[in-house]
Amino acid sequence: MAFNGTASVFNQLYSGTDYSSLSWLEQQWVAWYIWIDNPVIATGLMSFLLHELVYFGRSIPWIIIDSIPYFRKWKLQPNKIPTPAEQWECTKQVLLSHFTIEAPAIILFHPMAESVGMFTHHVPLPSLKTMAPQVFLFFFFEDFFHFLAHQALHTGLLYKHIHKMHHKYSAPFGLAAEYAHPAEVMILGTGTIAGPLLYSYFMRDLHILTVYVWILLRLFQAIDAHSGYDFPWSLQHIIPFWSGAEHHDFHHMAFTNNFSTSFRWWDRIFGTDDKYRQYRARIDAAKASMKGVSKEEELRLERELLAEIEAEGIRAEAEAETRGFLGEKKTKVQ
Ligand SMILES: [Zn+2]
Ligand SMILES: [Zn+2]
Repeated sequence: MAFNGTASVFNQLYSGTDYSSLSWLEQQWVAWYIWIDNPVIATGLMSFLLHELVYFGRSIPWIIIDSIPYFRKWKLQPNKIPTPAEQWECTKQVLLSHFTIEAPAIILFHPMAESVGMFTHHVPLPSLKTMAPQVFLFFFFEDFFHFLAHQALHTGLLYKHIHKMHHKYSAPFGLAAEYAHPAEVMILGTGTIAGPLLYSYFMRDLHILTVYVWILLRLFQAIDAHSGYDFPWSLQHIIPFWSGAEHHDFHHMAFTNNFSTSFRWWDRIFGTDDKYRQYRARIDAAKASMKGVSKEEELRLERELLAEIEAEGIRAEAEAETRGFLGEKKTKVQ
């Protein structure tokens, strides 16, 4: 098998590799590292490109859905459709942060991964059977980390100076998933990357491909959770402990409750979903009482309820800014 790479990279990285035993994907993997000719840049560039491709690739369907009125019946806050100008504004901000903060920082990914014994350029690639439990573990770890860190971000100064930016949109949309202060990206990003780093450090059995699979799935989760739509076929209707858009949309609308990312269990166990559950009960009761009511009346009642929750959210936001780190309320000194 012929690879058009330089002999130096070929010899350094892949000496002793039996190319005839490689799968198609493994051949592409090897070809990429040989083509770039520098493992640090090869890993950094692949990470950056994959992120951009998946982030914007996954956001495009949601932009299209927002432009088609047919889908409004599944919009969680149907009175708040993001305008193209709003979406463009958000895209510019996200791109700016990707190119000015993420792109330079991502160059550290390869040395960081290698320092904890992670496989990077190496082949063979791990099997699905190896990857699946590792990816689940990273989901579990990140979800709990996010549950705690996100609550800390809802207190006093951390909220005011950092997390407030992400709450600009009380009715989020896909592109808004990464609309956040750089410090927030670093704080919450720790939960995404610390799982794989710790796992690799202790287990010495992790390939960077598994980390990519994890991050790409997490990106899908984050964008979908911000989409603002709950379809009858959305994942949370199939897996009841999956959070989905319906869970996170409430967090943006009511500004309280539902602090975790992927799963519902921590918010349920610690009771940080009480207002959300009351709200669901009110919606269900309102829907039951609407039987026989005209479509216009149904819409009016639904909007009234949403406006009420939103007003409560605005009050909750103002309150968070005055709350201390451990949740105690600061009394204003006159
Ligand atoms: Zn928040
Ligand atoms: Zn959010």
